[in-house]
Amino acid sequence: MMEAERRLKAIKCGTLIDGTGENSRRNMVILIEGDTIRDVGSEGEVEIPGDAEIIDASKLTVMPGLIDAHVHLCINGEPSVFALLQYPPGLIQLMAARNALQTLEAGFTTVRDLGAPMGFAISLREAINRGIMRGPRILAAGRIISQTGGHGDFRLPIGIGFEEFSRLADGVDEMRKAVRMELREGVDWIKICSSGGVMSPRDPVDVRQFTVDEIRAAVEEAAAYGRSVASHAHGTTGIKNAVLAGVKTIEHGTLLDEEAAEMMAERGVYHIPTLVASYNILKHGREAGIPEYAMRKAEQIAEYPARSLRLSHRMGVPIAMGTDSGTPFNRHGENAKELELMVEAGLKPMEAIVAATKTAAEAIRLGGRTGVLKPGMWADIIAVEGDPLSDIRVLQDKSRIKMVMKGGVIEVDRGVEVIG
Ligand SMILES: [Zn+2]
Repeated sequence: MMEAERRLKAIKCGTLIDGTGENSRRNMVILIEGDTIRDVGSEGEVEIPGDAEIIDASKLTVMPGLIDAHVHLCINGEPSVFALLQYPPGLIQLMAARNALQTLEAGFTTVRDLGAPMGFAISLREAINRGIMRGPRILAAGRIISQTGGHGDFRLPIGIGFEEFSRLADGVDEMRKAVRMELREGVDWIKICSSGGVMSPRDPVDVRQFTVDEIRAAVEEAAAYGRSVASHAHGTTGIKNAVLAGVKTIEHGTLLDEEAAEMMAERGVYHIPTLVASYNILKHGREAGIPEYAMRKAEQIAEYPARSLRLSHRMGVPIAMGTDSGTPFNRHGENAKELELMVEAGLKPMEAIVAATKTAAEAIRLGGRTGVLKPGMWADIIAVEGDPLSDIRVLQDKSRIKMVMKGGVIEVDRGVEVIG
């Protein structure tokens, strides 16, 4: 490590929100050594060594780097996922790199990519980890695993389609093989679809996909490699099957009922509501070129995402923030819109922040490493102008995100003062 990197850094925080959900505190100091937080305390408590570099955020709100537990860096917010069919593969990879950078610049220091073709999210993760590209820390799920005719079956009626985006598996043996092929490519997570979806042309949104036995096979094979499974699930049966089979996160969870919420709360399964995905589809509509099948399905479930979030909240299901960014008009770098929608649905601003920090970290299995500003955690920190507790929308304004630090390195500097 270079001498400059070894130097301690001290952030003077006007207001500190530490990600745990505890009240914010004034005039705090965070001491950072290398990539790790060494100490957090009030200005009197924490002694700042004379040779430390001081980052003056005394007029700013300092909080953990935000975490998006559900993105698609290889999709660009086009009206239809089939837009990808017109790009050469290398261009998709390069656009994903741009999307990652935009995400980091918006204050997101960690994302989980839940579906990308050709190992592109894995390559991007490696490029960022090696310092070749700038972007958030990425956990990658690789290809989506879907049944034939399921949410991940992106073949057009004529028979061709974007087959690279997913692996089709039918039956327990094919599921085991599909998971093993993903593990071979170096994924951090396995993503399956246990119900229909909005952006897929031919499956009703509420049908169950995969049997409990098939999902259990995925969970077993993933667990053998120390990995967990995330399941796309809108329909009630698809949610319950996935929970029974042992998945760790339910993506969307749109048609959640009380029984399903109780099952999730009991087992500690996370709900990732992705409100902003349906918000953007309904907002932009057919006029913007979103396919008719997707509009019909989105309209059919329009009332449910906010309702299921409230149900999870009431029933004690852990809620993590995820956007599904990359879906129509759901653009990378605009991820913090989800927090506004969570607050609109009934969460307190602090609860939305915890969902995007501590709970999101736990959901993606990085609890204890990031999401909270405590000694021993990675120094993933943002400094924001304004008070997100009184107006959560300040987090959507990049010009107010004055600093983004990832692993102790200032990745984005919009004029924060550094002394020494
Ligand atoms: Zn998704």
